[in-house]
Amino acid sequence: MARLDGFLEYGREEAPHRTIEERVKDYREVELPLPETALQAQAARCMDCGIPFCHGSGCPLANRIPEMNDRIHRGRWREAAAILHATDNFPEITGRVCPGLCESACTLGLHGDAVSIRHLERMVADRAWAEGWVEPLPPRMRMGGKVAIIGSGPAGLAAAQQLARAGHDTVVFEREGRIGGLLRYGIPDFKLSKTLIDRRIEQMEAEGVRFETGVAVGEEISVSYLRKRFDAIVLAIGAGVPRDLDVPGRDLRGVHFALDYLGQQIRLNAGEIVADPIHAIGKRVLVIGGGDTGSDCLGTAIRQGATQVHQIELLSRPPEKRPFDMPWPAWPKLFKTTTSHEEGCMRSWGFATDWLEGRDGRVTRWHGHDKHSGETLSLEADLVILALGFLHVVQQGLVEQFGVELDAFGNIRVDAEGSTNVPGVFVAGDAILGASLVVRAVQTGRQAAKGVNDYLRG
Ligand SMILES: Cc1cc2nc3c(=O)[nH]c(=O)nc-3n(C[C@H](O)[C@H](O)[C@H](O)COP(=O)(O)OP(=O)(O)OC[C@H]3O[C@@H](n4cnc5c(N)ncnc54)[C@H](O)[C@@H]3O)c2cc1C
Ligand code: SF4
Repeated sequence: MARLDGFLEYGREEAPHRTIEERVKDYREVELPLPETALQAQAARCMDCGIPFCHGSGCPLANRIPEMNDRIHRGRWREAAAILHATDNFPEITGRVCPGLCESACTLGLHGDAVSIRHLERMVADRAWAEGWVEPLPPRMRMGGKVAIIGSGPAGLAAAQQLARAGHDTVVFEREGRIGGLLRYGIPDFKLSKTLIDRRIEQMEAEGVRFETGVAVGEEISVSYLRKRFDAIVLAIGAGVPRDLDVPGRDLRGVHFALDYLGQQIRLNAGEIVADPIHAIGKRVLVIGGGDTGSDCLGTAIRQGATQVHQIELLSRPPEKRPFDMPWPAWPKLFKTTTSHEEGCMRSWGFATDWLEGRDGRVTRWHGHDKHSGETLSLEADLVILALGFLHVVQQGLVEQFGVELDAFGNIRVDAEGSTNVPGVFVAGDAILGASLVVRAVQTGRQAAKGVNDYLRG
């Protein structure tokens, strides 16, 4: 522990953001780094409290947070990076997009402000890349196992990296033309620059991972072919079925799923050609769904030049402070203002959608009611985005062909090692959990890799 009294001397400092005026003109990342002296002070706030709940019950990866904080405070950045990489394959990514489950479990947070763990993690990872400390770690020995990973989101990538490093021949099959899953085509560039994924892919290729893009397994190549060619398979196919809105007017033009909308802008940013993209310029945009994906849609619509953006949520407005039924160190559902909200939008809670009105086949109005008072409300809208979350894994095709069992939620059932009822077939990420988080995808990817390694080694 670097300082006994750091938490008494320093208050929590948030990472700065680019000004709203500047950032809404482009899609570059919003968050800026804190300077080194401020980072060392933030790390010194860690009390090394004895039982680190941040590590034990907060972070799904069990990142060794007090040790990382200690090394940052002492200026031993390379050691901090090694500590972080021991448990987290992609800390530069979790350090940007993780909601910081660890911070809600930080002991300092019991009576005050938690340590700024997520930003410290990001800065350690960024420094490691900038200094050239992140190198490929090819295996010293080949183990002879052949493993196919289906899906290249964070779960598939983490599983692939672990298995390649353990000496297995590892091939990642991805339906899309580019690697990354929702890291690539879901999370907007202003939260996660795509160059971060590209350099990890380079590292993984140097470690021996092979990537086959543009291949939909179960369509272009058959499951029986894969089973003959590979000793084990990891399904990391995400939770691809979006929740829909069953109301009159749903089929009007101008009503779209969030992921279709977000993915198109990301493709445009990458220079890909998108025929007839969904665009918000000059439109009144209504986002149905009050979560983070909805907020990503707001930020995108603002950058595209929407004249007005409004986010509507079915549930009541969450509390600002931790309520008694979400006690420390649990992750509480609290009222949140994201950087996209700060950029200018209206927000309403507790409204259900009744129907969508249109003219000449195009949406023009949203009609709903207040769930508590029953009062009706009607809003003009030229573009309606459905950000209602995801139901479960796509069950037809691949999942059916493998014959894996599903759980009560419609996702793939696994044991503690990520193994399904079919020998040699493992699962990771949202395909098990339903729509979840990057950090959990990485954790289950590592878990499935361990399961595969144990299986292959008998
Ligand atoms: C808009 C949006 C924003 C988000 N923001 C955040 C955030 O800020 N922080 C956070 O922690 N989480 C966020 N999430 C959630 C997070 O992105 C997911 O939990 C995570 O990506 C799941 O990883 P995964 O690897 O299981 O699946 P995915 O990332 O969904 O990847 C699955 C991959 O499998 C491929 N695939 C599917 N079927 C086949 C097939 N038959 N053959 C070949 N390939 C196939 C798909 O094309 C896809 O690339 C967000 C999600 C969305 C939608
Ligand atoms: S991955 Fe998330 S929960 Fe884990 S230490 Fe980083 S910010 Fe915290």
